[in-house]
Amino acid sequence: MDHVERAAAHRAYAEQTATCTRCALAQGRTQVVFGSGSPNADLMFVGEAPGFHEDQQGIPFVGQAGKLLDNLLAGIELTRADVYVSNVLKCRPPGNRDPMPEEIAACEPHLFRQIELIEPKLVATLGNFATKLLSGKPAGITRVHGVEQEVTLGPRTVLLFPLYHPAAALYTPSMLKVLEEDFARIPALLERTADESPAVEPEAAAAEASAVQLGLF
Ligand code: URA
Repeated sequence: MDHVERAAAHRAYAEQTATCTRCALAQGRTQVVFGSGSPNADLMFVGEAPGFHEDQQGIPFVGQAGKLLDNLLAGIELTRADVYVSNVLKCRPPGNRDPMPEEIAACEPHLFRQIELIEPKLVATLGNFATKLLSGKPAGITRVHGVEQEVTLGPRTVLLFPLYHPAAALYTPSMLKVLEEDFARIPALLERTADESPAVEPEAAAAEASAVQLGLF
């Protein structure tokens, strides 16, 4: 898929999801908070669930935790437009309570489809819920933050990078320091995924190289 096709497929799926009634959270939401940023991003963040402001505005991470995410991104010279941001749940749980297992199970196909469409190279999970869901392992964020791991999601292998949730780090200075340190490793991890991933099959790469030599591109 080229960039335009990917953006169109992403938009179509977001529109389809806007009327989702797969779980009871549909009844209390203002709107579905699907995701924001570039559908062509190499780096995707996955948080927990929309809160009050996200539910109102329809955009993930727009409250205090979102401001911290913006600052952390600025620290590695990225903006929200360079990355893609989404959540495990696309609808706000009442009173911002934790996601329930049946809500996660109901919403999971949306996240997996998003990942399939966006094809990020690096997926940074923010907090326990996203980390456990995408790693498929029960280990908590305190143990696994900052430890990158390859995971197979559908037909692709992506590098998963668990991070503390910015909302938790907001009120705990020691956690914020660790989050900043982990965040600082993102550029190197992105470079690593760029080196490792054969963007095209070797045969196609050889054909492209000879076409370039012939001046076709
Ligand atoms: N805002 C979000 O969109 N997700 C979170 O996990 C927290 C705040």
